[in-house]
Amino acid sequence: MAVDPLIELRDVNKHYGKLHVLRDINLTVGRGEVVVVIGPSGSGKSTLCRAINRLEPVESGTILLDGQPLPEEGRALAKLRAEVGMVFQSFNLFAHKTVLANVSLAPLKVRKRGKEEANKRSRELLERVGLLDQADKYPAQLSGGQQQRVAIARALAMDPKALLFDEPTSALDPEMINEVLEVMRQLARDGMTMVVVTHEMGFARSAANRVVFMADGRIVEDRTPEEFFTAPESERAKDFLSKIL
Ligand code: ADP
Ligand code: MG
Repeated sequence: MAVDPLIELRDVNKHYGKLHVLRDINLTVGRGEVVVVIGPSGSGKSTLCRAINRLEPVESGTILLDGQPLPEEGRALAKLRAEVGMVFQSFNLFAHKTVLANVSLAPLKVRKRGKEEANKRSRELLERVGLLDQADKYPAQLSGGQQQRVAIARALAMDPKALLFDEPTSALDPEMINEVLEVMRQLARDGMTMVVVTHEMGFARSAANRVVFMADGRIVEDRTPEEFFTAPESERAKDFLSKIL
């Protein structure tokens, strides 16, 4: 893929106390690219996502979004968070708001959109994730898979430049995993830039441009899915794959 970098991490390091959780991370995510991040539990995948959205500060190195360094605080940081949407394992929907209100909330508050415009756009997004008919329900009335699709619509409502997914299907019953992955595949086909932490190797094979394998805070491999799954180079990756495949 031609390199038109949207997210760039250069020599990024972070500790939690004595634990060196991100070690010399260098990663470029091109515009429209889908990068799947895999690796053992505790290898730093979530921390990497949180660093990109600046939910976690890093100690050294540079993180650029669209060529600009991540802002430290204030208005610029809020703007950054709006530009990089995040979808978590736990859907974090507001229980006392309807599905439509969950999706409209941030555009109304942060983007200062008019209510009618925000609701119209939210309906379009709910249609895109196949949930227009659930707009007036409350999260508890939906299945886990449906709630996660609402969370994706909510992230899209801010018109983000990129979406980060941290194990978006790990909390779901098996029969609901595919409906969420299908929405993500469609986003990928539509050209959304995505960083996806997942254990869904089928998704990695079919939707990722690159697979990044992390272990002990390092990026150990960064290759095409084809290369990674057929001929992993490192012992760590071979060992990991032998356990999950
Ligand atoms: P992964 O998502 O790959 O499982 P994480 O990024 O969540 O890994 O965590 C990497 C390491 O950092 C783990 O050893 C974890 O226990 C530790 N860690 C994560 N968050 C914190 C925190 N807020 N404080 C201290 N240690 C943390
Ligand atoms: Mg994690």
